[in-house]
Parts: sequence; C-alpha cells; structure tokens
Amino acid sequence: MSEQVDVVVIGAGHNGMASAGYLARAGKKVVVLERMAKVGGMTSSGFMIPEAPQHLVTPCAVELMFARGSGIIEDFDLPKYGLRTIDPDPSYAYLHPDGSSIAVFRDAKRTADDISRISRNDGKAYIEFLKCLDAMMDIGFPLMMAEPGKPDAGNLTKMIGAAVRSVKLKDQLVAISKGTSDQVACEWFEHPATIAMLLGVAAGAGPVDDDGNAAAYMIMAVLHRLGTGKPIGSLQSFSNALAASVEASGAKIELNASVAEILIEDGAAKGVRLEDGRVIRAKMVIATCDPRTAMRLTTPGGVSRQLVQRIEHAPSNRSNAAPFLANLAMSGPLTLKRHQDLRHDDADLNQAVALIGTPEEVREAFAYARRGDIPTRHAVSLTPMTNIDPSQAPPGQSVAYIYLPAMAVDAREGWSPALKDKTMGTIINHLAEYYDGLDAEVGRFVETAREREKRLNVTNGCVTHIDFGALRAGTHRPATGFGGPKPPFPGFLMGGAGTHPGGGVSGIAGRIAANRALRAMKKMK
Ligand SMILES: Cc1cc2nc3c(=O)[nH]c(=O)nc-3n(C[C@H](O)[C@H](O)[C@H](O)COP(=O)(O)OP(=O)(O)OC[C@H]3O[C@@H](n4cnc5c(N)ncnc54)[C@H](O)[C@@H]3O)c2cc1C
Repeated sequence: MSEQVDVVVIGAGHNGMASAGYLARAGKKVVVLERMAKVGGMTSSGFMIPEAPQHLVTPCAVELMFARGSGIIEDFDLPKYGLRTIDPDPSYAYLHPDGSSIAVFRDAKRTADDISRISRNDGKAYIEFLKCLDAMMDIGFPLMMAEPGKPDAGNLTKMIGAAVRSVKLKDQLVAISKGTSDQVACEWFEHPATIAMLLGVAAGAGPVDDDGNAAAYMIMAVLHRLGTGKPIGSLQSFSNALAASVEASGAKIELNASVAEILIEDGAAKGVRLEDGRVIRAKMVIATCDPRTAMRLTTPGGVSRQLVQRIEHAPSNRSNAAPFLANLAMSGPLTLKRHQDLRHDDADLNQAVALIGTPEEVREAFAYARRGDIPTRHAVSLTPMTNIDPSQAPPGQSVAYIYLPAMAVDAREGWSPALKDKTMGTIINHLAEYYDGLDAEVGRFVETAREREKRLNVTNGCVTHIDFGALRAGTHRPATGFGGPKPPFPGFLMGGAGTHPGGGVSGIAGRIAANRALRAMKKMK
C-alpha cells in the first residue's frame, strides 16, 4: 500500500516543521516523518535523568536569539500556541578567575561601561566594535533570510541600503568577516577578560582560529538588539508550539516514523520507504536531517556518483572538535560564589549564562580536541536553567546546563564511561571554583558528540550538520550544486542546518526549502 502526498519532509526538527508549515499554508498536502518519539530534534528537551525524573534536561539548543529576528515566531503565531520566553538581563557574564566579571546587558552602552571598569581602552573599543557588528547585522540578517544566489527585492534592498550606509566601515567589516575570532578579539581589545568574553561567545560557532570565524561576533549585535529569549519549559515548549501551529495549518507530523530510503526512480526522488515498510509517494522530498545522512538514504545507484561523493566529503566536525554537553540535576540551589559579591552594581549574574575560561583555555580546548586529548582546565559555559525558569525542577532544586564548545569527537583513548566520568570530574572541579551547589548533584545527563550522533542520527554529532566556513556558505552550502534555488536533482531538496543560512534556531533554512519546493512544483505542472 502506498500513500500519495505533495511533499514528504524528513525530520521534525524546527526546520522540518517550519518547512511543512509554510507548504501547508500554501495549500500543499504535507507529511513530516520523524524517527524520534517527539518533535524538535536539536530543539527538544525532556526528563532524561532517571535519578532526577522532575529535573528538565535540555540536551541541545537553549535559546531563541535568531528565531527572534527570522520571523518564524510571528509567522506561526507561536505565543498563541503556548510559547513564553524570558530575557535575563544581563544575559551573559564572563567570570574572570580573579573574581571580576563582564556583564553583557541588553544595553550596549551599559556593557561598554562594565568593560571600562576592567580596561578603559577596551570599553571605548567595544562601542566602536559594535558599530561594525551592527552594520554586519544590518547586512547579514537580510543575507541570511534571502534565497542565496537569487535574493528577493525586499532583502536585496535592505542589504544594499545597509552596505551603502556602512561604506565608511568597509575596511573594518572586510577584516572582521575574513579574520579568525581570536585574531579579531586581540586586534580590538587588550585585556584578557575582554578577549576571553569574546572568545567564549565565538567558540560556539567553531574553531576560534578558523579564517572567517570572526563573523560569529555578529551574535553580540544580535544579543543587544534582540535579546536571547529563553523559552519557559525550555526548547521543547518552542517545538511543541511550532508543531501545534503547523498541524493546525493542515500538515501531518508522524512520530516514530524513521525513513529507511529516499526512493529514486529515473534520477528523480519519488517518495520514501519507512523502516516499517510503508511507502509514501510524493512530488517532492525535503530532507532536513543532515545532508550526509540524507544522501546515504537515497536508493543505491539512483543519484549520480559525483553528487553522492560531493556530500560524503562535506565537513562535519572536521577539526575533531564539537560541543560536549551536560545537565546536572541538584537537590538544592545553584549560586555564584565570589563574582556576585564583587559586583559594583545590582546586576544579577545568577541568571546570566556564565562564560568561564581564559583566552589560553579557549585556545587549548580546540588544540586538545584536534589531537584527541582531553584537557583538565576548560572553556565552558554554564546556563543556570532554574535560576531563570524555576519551573524546570522541583521547588528549591536546580539544573545547570553545561556546554563545552570544543571537546574531542573521537578521544585518543576512546570515549569509555570511565573517561566521561573523569572528564566530568574535572569540569565540575573547575566550575566549583565559581559556583556553590554543584556538590548537591542527584543525577546527570552527559552527551559526547558520538552519543549525539546516535541519539539524533546526525553525522559526527555536528550541531550545524555541516561545518560553517566562508566556502560552505550561500549556494555552496552544503556543497556546490546543492545550495541553489533549483533542486540538485528532480524531486529532492535539503532544508536543515546543513543548508543556507546554516545552524542555529531560526527556521530560515526550512522556509527557503519550502519556497524552493513551491517553485519546483509549479514548474512540474
Ligand atoms: C548542544 C547544542 C547546543 C546548541 N545551542 C544552540 C543555541 O543555544 N542557539 C541556537 O540557535 N542553536 C543552538 N544549537 C544548534 C541548533 O540547535 C541546530 O543547528 C538546529 O536546531 C538544527 O535544526 P534542524 O531542524 O535543521 O535539524 P535537527 O534539529 O537536527 O532535526 C533533524 C531531524 O531529523 C530527524 N531524522 C534524522 N534521520 C531521520 C530519518 N532517517 N527519518 C526520520 N527522521 C530523521 C532527527 O531525529 C531530527 O529530529 C545547539 C545545538 C546543540 C547540539
């Protein structure tokens, strides 16, 4: 028996659901197939610690910064479907080992003043740096939103307008967008605390010594302009709201529905075969799982060998560095030790995402990961989930979300349970220099990149599906021939984090794929 729809979307991550929602609103019959038992993919959360069944675990994304600017929240009316967000201010705080701190407030001037207490020159430089980052955001956001290679008039006008307005900053903008984040931080700032704060933010976007990585500093402009947006009930509440809205527009989402094969006949995608044997035939298949997984699902011999190999060689955590993630459930509160007391103002750092790690520790994190080694001092951020949203644990108890941007995908000695425990021991020791309460742990969730690979079916556990890079952007993301407005081969499109504009929670990749599918189906008629 086979079912017939207009579009099959593989994956109910936020991009898959967004794609389906736009298509359903355009009157198409759409089904989303998700192999997991819940929606969200990397925007999911749940009760995943058996010893702490009422402590909510966030295993992947934690905030909605980019979704704030992409229009997805408004397009799908997510507040109507239950989405509520909180914006702690300051949202981030760099904690220096000597007890001083830099708070990142929504107000850029207040942030610069905070930096000035540590270094007057850096405070002044931050204001000038932000002028460049604001210009980058004005040019970069429309670039992200537009169909690469064929931008629509609205986004093109915004991009050109912003570029013209920023013409005086041209040389600085080129230097920032082509440089490494380490180089740019050291060019602009002199105090190790300011440099560490910036490296801590940029490290989430990839190796801090990769050319082009400094473009990640645009996040600072986004933080000041849009805030961070932490959903109450964590990211699952965002995904559940999106699923409810998308289903209300007529799309169907099937859970526990793993795709075993993308059916290719006469060089064109014609539908999918599920693990349970069912076949769903479709005019278009949109794969929002990672591109390498998607191509491996195609009927053997169905797609040209050249295209298959081109994707198989696309980089996913090529440097062997990837985020390592833990959530600690605790029976008591989590509080900062010295840094709060040493503040000169009323800023509540206990609700901020703490950035911990000197510039050397950030650099070493990537160097160790490349070699497959595990450091004993760490570059790490801690999001105090329950200080922000107490509903995520029983009253008076807490959850710490611990994120290390660079840890070995494959450890030299292999990731045994003993190595995971040893690594967690050094991470907790390091964090205990900053926080009280970690010794009241009642359970933990810890995930290496290889475990993420298994749980989410994502090659090498890569959070952006395909590594970011100047040569993997726009129409060349995930690879040349796959990122343009036309399907790489008839009936098939990709639409997840591996495609333009890349990883992060924005829904833009899903929206672009939906528009491509609509254009391709129009031509079929
Ligand atoms: C630890 C971590 C922290 C992060 N923090 C942030 C953050 O704070 N802010 C931010 O913006 N971004 C963050 N990200 C990145 C962001 O979460 C992802 O880039 C984004 O959510 C990817 O969305 P997607 O829909 O493209 O893909 P995914 O979420 O990966 O969805 C793909 C879906 O496809 C499904 N699938 C795979 N194979 C099959 C199959 N054969 N059949 C059916 N379904 C299949 C998967 O189960 C999955 O649900 C983080 C990611 C991680 C891992």
